[in-house]
Amino acid sequence: MAQISFIGAGNMATAIIKGLLAQGQTPSDITATGVDADALKQLSDETGIQVTTDNRAAIAGRDLVVMAVKPQVMKGVCEGIADLVQSHQPVVMSVAAGLTLDSLDRWLGGQTALVRCMPNTPALLGAGAAGLYANAEVSDQGRQYAEAVMQAVGLAVWVEREDLLDAVTAVSGSGPAYFFLFVEVLEQAGIQQGLAPEVARQLAMQTALGAGRMLTENDLEPAELRRRVTSPGGTTEQAVNTFIEGGLGDLVQKAADAAAQRARELA
Ligand code: NAD
Repeated sequence: MAQISFIGAGNMATAIIKGLLAQGQTPSDITATGVDADALKQLSDETGIQVTTDNRAAIAGRDLVVMAVKPQVMKGVCEGIADLVQSHQPVVMSVAAGLTLDSLDRWLGGQTALVRCMPNTPALLGAGAAGLYANAEVSDQGRQYAEAVMQAVGLAVWVEREDLLDAVTAVSGSGPAYFFLFVEVLEQAGIQQGLAPEVARQLAMQTALGAGRMLTENDLEPAELRRRVTSPGGTTEQAVNTFIEGGLGDLVQKAADAAAQRARELA
């Protein structure tokens, strides 16, 4: 089994660690670091993993080091372990939003085997969707480690160029909020039609869940699922045509373009 360290043991790292343990990873093969010794002790008591407040103690002998600190502290954290990364050469994977491989590589001393991952928030429930990109220094084995780690909290897909992670941000990184917004406006529409707010909300939320499950629990394409619930001349057709004629496709394209553009600006 791979030896894996998490530098930073907050929400994202904890979710991934629990996912790995649920898949049978040996607790003692995982180390997590952080600045809050009490929180680390609690995590260790709960999971059996190794913990330390010393990032430098979590590099030697590790196959994969997952950088899971906030973007604004990443530079200092990388520089603090750079010499050890250079001497021990683990694969380093960053899950930080918006930090390019160029920056990470510079902070870690250059020629680092690096994976950049764009996860999303449902990873905290084990239902994430992540895009991964590896630089040329990462071996096939290293790619497998990185992929297995992100698959512990959901779907993990590789993209073939780093800039495509901006597109991943536009689809899945920011995507959960699009669906939340849709539920909000659907709830409002139900209220306008006379439903009690709580009833409208419950119906809209449960419908999102049901549609999500239908999408993921069978092999039919989204368009085919839609066709199957859209009888000619029926109620759903009226609503779907209203979306299409109202330019939903163009609007979603514009929204995704704006998200990707912002991701490029922040990098
Ligand atoms: P968090 O605030 O919950 O956790 C941050 C962790 O970093 C804490 O355990 C803290 O103790 C630790 N830390 C702070 N300074 C440190 C240092 N100098 N050395 C070692 N550890 C240190 O943050 P999070 O939500 O888990 O996010 C972590 C990363 O994941 C971020 O870069 C974020 O961009 C990315 N991410 C998170 C989500 C999400 O849904 N939470 C989604 C996408 C990307």
